[in-house]
Amino acid sequence: MRVDPLAFLTTELDSLREQGLHRSLRILEGRQQASSRFDARTVVNLSSNNYLGLTTHPRLIEAAIQAIRDYGVGSGSVRTIAGTMEIHMELERRLAAFKNTEAVAVFQSGFAANAGTVSAILTKEDVIISDALNHASIIDGCRLSRAAIKVFPHKDVAAARTILKELPGSQRKLLITDGVFSMEGDLGPLPELCDLAEEFGCIMMVDDAHASGVFGRNGRGTIDHFNMHGRVDIQVGTLSKAIGALGGYVAGSKDFIDFLYHRARPFLFSTSHPPSVVASCLAALDVLEQEPEIIERLWANTRFFKAGLESMGFDTGLSESPITPVIAGDGVRAMKLSDRLFQEGVFAQGIAFPTVARDKARVRTIVTATHSQNELQFALDAFKRVGLELGLI
Ligand SMILES: *Cc1c(COP(=O)(O)O)cnc(C)c1O
Repeated sequence: MRVDPLAFLTTELDSLREQGLHRSLRILEGRQQASSRFDARTVVNLSSNNYLGLTTHPRLIEAAIQAIRDYGVGSGSVRTIAGTMEIHMELERRLAAFKNTEAVAVFQSGFAANAGTVSAILTKEDVIISDALNHASIIDGCRLSRAAIKVFPHKDVAAARTILKELPGSQRKLLITDGVFSMEGDLGPLPELCDLAEEFGCIMMVDDAHASGVFGRNGRGTIDHFNMHGRVDIQVGTLSKAIGALGGYVAGSKDFIDFLYHRARPFLFSTSHPPSVVASCLAALDVLEQEPEIIERLWANTRFFKAGLESMGFDTGLSESPITPVIAGDGVRAMKLSDRLFQEGVFAQGIAFPTVARDKARVRTIVTATHSQNELQFALDAFKRVGLELGLI
């Protein structure tokens, strides 16, 4: 009998089960919206990144259907061979204008944009100075580049400066931060990091995945929010979160983008977006420009929900965005909190090590523009009952 060479994975899974950390995927029936059916239960949904409700916006849906009728369902090739359609170029031009940069390259996802960009521009001679809580796709891009990676404690600009002071002036350096940190909901210290980048001659890169559609004028992101235009060399955004569809993009100078067209591996070796996805993204930009009141609603809901959690005495960390963590302690406690909330009709995903530190396990909540006050109050009431039961408040 052949011995299963993957049996060690079963052992690992058994160990997760014993620790109470094994998760099965929750199944969404129907649309991703403020209240949705997951695992045959209708719940107030605080777990999506669908900040503005654009996954089901009529204009995005109609644009996709029309693009399928006009162009079919697939692009049939990678961007650098036969897979660049006029609609891909139109999206890049629109995004560049939106971001106030010379040019943009669109990737299949935010993950591909980060990993593909960092690995394309750096080599093993170079060094990356990276916030400890930067997103996994940045970390993977850093590893693929084979550059040296120096990590500074979360938002600790003084520590980043100490690292930079010890590096040879001639070495190429990339200073990189998330605009909004995905698990904490706090903002990267962009003004201070831009100063540092200029002082030490670093390439400055900001990943604005959770900021696109949320911060800045009409959702232009944290560079706009902090008025750092012209001081950030590389901006990454996603089309998969507030924009409601799928994709990632990199914004910067014309030559930088032209270089990515030649060297970014996801751009060269992975098929481009279906035209329908691109059409939905273009429609999303129309919505951001013409219906900015949805961003206002997102922020009004954010203020209401955060104030409710804080007044009950939950530990919500240092969030400054619609991402509000509710910190529970160890992983088992966080999963218990999430499971009990689900039974009470609220979906807030539990998040534990290795995504966050072992003693900072949490449920993460994200409100959207489309939640009603009633839905948010229902969720707050459930948090109160379960929080008291678990001794969190
Ligand atoms: C979600 C996220 C990404 C990845 O974006 P996708 O489009 O989902 O691949 C990259 N960076 C950060 C900070 C994110 O939160």
